[in-house]
Amino acid sequence: MKNQYWFYPEIFNTKLTQTDAFDNPASKVVCVGRNYVEHTKELNNPVPSSPLLFMKPSTSLIAMTPQFNLPDDGRAYHYELEVALLIGKKLNHAEEKFTLDAVAGVGLALDLTIRELQGQLKSDGHPWEKAKAFDGACPVTEFLPVNLIDDLNGIEFSLHKNNQQVQAGNTRNMIFKMDYLLSEISRNFTLLPGDIVLTGTPEGVGRLRSSDVLQLSLNQQRWQSTVI
Ligand code: ZN
Repeated sequence: MKNQYWFYPEIFNTKLTQTDAFDNPASKVVCVGRNYVEHTKELNNPVPSSPLLFMKPSTSLIAMTPQFNLPDDGRAYHYELEVALLIGKKLNHAEEKFTLDAVAGVGLALDLTIRELQGQLKSDGHPWEKAKAFDGACPVTEFLPVNLIDDLNGIEFSLHKNNQQVQAGNTRNMIFKMDYLLSEISRNFTLLPGDIVLTGTPEGVGRLRSSDVLQLSLNQQRWQSTVI
């Protein structure tokens, strides 16, 4: 079964359609917390000495098409814009120098978070999943073939909400760079073709409301989506 979430024919190039990543559904989304210094400060968190990893299940994935759904349960959902990597080759205890070769595509994702619940879970010493792994907690754009990206550690990305810029980042400011990050992840969890890695959010996270209009950019690429 092809994964509908990144099956966007208009960006396909023939070479990449043959890679496993586009034929396999994600088994998981691996996320990195606190990978940008300014964001760790805005939430009063310490800067980590090794990557803080957590996961979202495949059921959290939804396509960031021109509209996407936010649960309508009265809770406050917050956005975190992140560069997302689509994995094309299995990575298990991979050395850094082999990791970038396993990236098939690059896109953007929102690491949706029920911030108040996350705060409560953190202070109780409980896992975060209820606040970050719910159905629909990971809207993703289509993935651009990695050969269109000059430097994974130099990607500019931003989020505008209702025509105001709320987040802007460059992956060169990540505390843990792409190759180190993927190596570390693969030492903890095997990454399979089709898996997605979220690489952390810069500062500017905040609340999302229905009818918000989002504009996302990754280098020259733009997407627009309305929250419903
Ligand atoms: Zn995040």
